[in-house]
Amino acid sequence: MLINFLNIYLFAGVLLLTFMFVYAFLRGRSGYAKALGALCLSIQIYLLGYLLEINVSPMEDMIFWNQIQYFGIPFFPAWWLVVGILYTERGRLLKGWGGAAVFAVPVLTFILRLTNDSHHFYYSKIQMNQIGDYTFLLLSKGPFYYVQMLYAFIALVLCTFFYFQRYRKSVGSERIQFRLFLIASILPYLALILIMTDLGGTGIDYTALILPPCILLILLALTRYNFLDIKALARERVFRDTDSGLLLLNRSYRVVDFNESSKRFFQWLGIQIREDNLEALLEAHPKLMDSIGNQKDQIVQLESPEGIRSVSIRSMPFRNQHETLGYQVIFEDVTEREALNRRLVEMANRDSLSGLNNRRRFRELGEEAYQRAVRYEEKLAVLMMDLDHFKKINDTYGHSAGDQVIKEFSAMMAHEFRGTDITGRMGGEEFAAVMLYADGETALQKAEGLRAEVEAYGFQHENHLMKLTVSIGIAELNGEVFDFDMLISQADRALYQAKEQGRNRVVVFGRD
Ligand code: GH3
Ligand code: MG
Ligand code: MG
Repeated sequence: MLINFLNIYLFAGVLLLTFMFVYAFLRGRSGYAKALGALCLSIQIYLLGYLLEINVSPMEDMIFWNQIQYFGIPFFPAWWLVVGILYTERGRLLKGWGGAAVFAVPVLTFILRLTNDSHHFYYSKIQMNQIGDYTFLLLSKGPFYYVQMLYAFIALVLCTFFYFQRYRKSVGSERIQFRLFLIASILPYLALILIMTDLGGTGIDYTALILPPCILLILLALTRYNFLDIKALARERVFRDTDSGLLLLNRSYRVVDFNESSKRFFQWLGIQIREDNLEALLEAHPKLMDSIGNQKDQIVQLESPEGIRSVSIRSMPFRNQHETLGYQVIFEDVTEREALNRRLVEMANRDSLSGLNNRRRFRELGEEAYQRAVRYEEKLAVLMMDLDHFKKINDTYGHSAGDQVIKEFSAMMAHEFRGTDITGRMGGEEFAAVMLYADGETALQKAEGLRAEVEAYGFQHENHLMKLTVSIGIAELNGEVFDFDMLISQADRALYQAKEQGRNRVVVFGRD
């Protein structure tokens, strides 16, 4: 009875392992799958050897098949560990001496078992044990047997540790999988304990009995996750490893899955994410929930430990043909992107030397101001300014002195005009301003003030003190102006007049 059960059990185990070996080795493409194949092969050899050992009768034959088992026994804890290492992505541990260290004891065990007759270092004594009509080899443990046991134990503990760590960190289907791996890695401890205590003194090899269910568990875990399917694995990886926070919601906004990155964004919201209704999770952020519910894209400012971050939140439904199955919500840290955008806009709009609006931006803002003024019948004045004999500054003191003057004059302008006025550098040493709510008279006063200030000012560069004047032309919005360009060209003409009349003066277009 016992023998039949044991035989059938072992035979089924060998079949299962053959299947696993072929599947992992032939179909798997990762190093991990190959290692799993090797693990299956080593256990399969072990079980097959054991099956034959207990089914042959002369003691020499039993010892022979026991010997055959050692093509598998010493190596399976090593492969077990390698599989654990690779599957939990600690592959670098195996680089260089790491790999050699893992296989050193198994190789030694294999050699010592092979040559046991001459030193009895592995098995000190080999006897027979009769249970009913059934004979087991009773093997007395030699010193190296304990070394191999200790090694197997350490390999198991390490592997369990690795799986446990990953189990704690993972979520979703991966978590279920690592739970199965964890159970599979705990079972062999039982076998080790049974063997070390030699329960019942039967000589039955409990490890051989416990390994098939372990492998079955691993098979179960793998089919749940389908690790050999690179595409599914890649998808799951992308979901897991991306910097974006990803949430999957079902139709009633319950969080059904979330990735590691999403935890960070939720922390910034002061929330610990869990599989719960999103409305409940975002109780303190009703506006946020509202936009997610309405699939409105938004950028929110969240407080992270490193300061305020801009976070883009998008949500979109996923549907099959007719119905919405759920939603996915994507959180992205766009702080750097936003800052870069702002810088690009700034660079496109600003003149780098003066810090004023460049010509293009000045015209754009001026045009808008003009349209507004016309619509609301408000006053508006345009000033064109050109530094007098600026070429002389360059010629006398050098180009960088000229630059310095441009900078200082721009600063004066920025100071002189209101924040709501529009100032710009039109090119070279030519500047312009649009004054809102101002007529020619008001603009004239302002321009006179600026002109006098420039005249009185001593521009300084290195050790030189430079005197300079500015000419200014003004045009105001009135019934005869049709568009902004016309205002500009009127101001230009007034400026030309100011130059003609001897410079360092202000001329309002249309007045003598
Ligand atoms: P006026 O306007 O009084 O008729 O005489 P001007 O000497 O200012 O006349 P013009 O407009 O012909 O000369 C402008 C000079 O300004 C020519 C150019 O070398 C110089 N300039 C233009 N842009 C820059 C700049 O960015 N930096 C410096 N240093 N010089 C510049
Ligand atoms: Mg000039
Ligand atoms: Mg000029």
